[in-house]
Amino acid sequence: AATPSGATIEAWLDGLRGRLADDVRGAVADYIPELSRADADGLAICIATVDGQVYGVGDQAEPFTIQSVSKPFMYGYALREYGVDFTLGHVGVEPTGEAFNSIILDDVHNRPFNPMVNAGAIAVAELMKGATMAQRERNMRELFSQFAGRELSIDDSVYRSEHATGHRNRAIAYMMLNSGMIRRDPEDVLDLYFKQCAVSVTCRDLAVMAATLANDGANPLTGDKVLDPLAVRDVLTLMHSCGMYNYAGQWAYEVGVPAKSGVSGGVIAVIPGQLGIGVWSPRLDAHGNSVRGVEACKAVSSAFGLHVFNAR
Ligand code: GLU
Repeated sequence: AATPSGATIEAWLDGLRGRLADDVRGAVADYIPELSRADADGLAICIATVDGQVYGVGDQAEPFTIQSVSKPFMYGYALREYGVDFTLGHVGVEPTGEAFNSIILDDVHNRPFNPMVNAGAIAVAELMKGATMAQRERNMRELFSQFAGRELSIDDSVYRSEHATGHRNRAIAYMMLNSGMIRRDPEDVLDLYFKQCAVSVTCRDLAVMAATLANDGANPLTGDKVLDPLAVRDVLTLMHSCGMYNYAGQWAYEVGVPAKSGVSGGVIAVIPGQLGIGVWSPRLDAHGNSVRGVEACKAVSSAFGLHVFNAR
């Protein structure tokens, strides 16, 4: 496959990697103590196409925890298992303009605003099926493994680190218990949420997971149909409006592709019908987005003309 300049995709990506490597702005997240151990200079960029080609450069095989990049996939699961109406009873679809960890519910329905902020993702974590905690954890891991096309596991030290320090998320869960939005024991719901955030992935995994969304919910490597196309449409809509923290509006304006980022420095972007992009680089900007992740997606979007509202 070739790029507009005629270079191979790998050569083009490698040029981009070289340019981004000089950018050392931002800081590694440390509010979850274990995250501060990440290699600040780590950088990987991968692209997976809907016909199953995977291209990558940099630290493609370096594992990191998925963190908030898990949120769209869990939301897709809720839509698949319960349908739209039931899911809308637990979480709305409005951007908040607030930080990802804000403790507010919408005052009309007492609902979290959307599934891409912590409150909404915790409400969605309650919907994971399974009679016991162990079964719910197995089902959650299986979901992520299907999206990635390989068996994924949980990074136990990051999970424990967040379990020990995630008091703000605990406050959010108990507030939702108080308002009737959560019905299970909040500690169980949080346990699944912390484990979902601690699923260990590589940049290549992120690209394949994003490509599964680009491919109407079917994993392009395994052929597994993980979501149906209508659920994918709803997931991408929320990634478009709410996926990049409180930079989401500017992102939609400048980059113009549905995306989701997380505090460990991962970013996914989805070009429906074409490809998924995964980037990993741990230094974050003031919004909580990977500095190089944002720059990499901007570069790919502009070089390949991917903005959804580009003139045709
Ligand atoms: N586990 C993290 C938290 O809840 C995820 C945050 C994120 O990646 O935005 O604080």
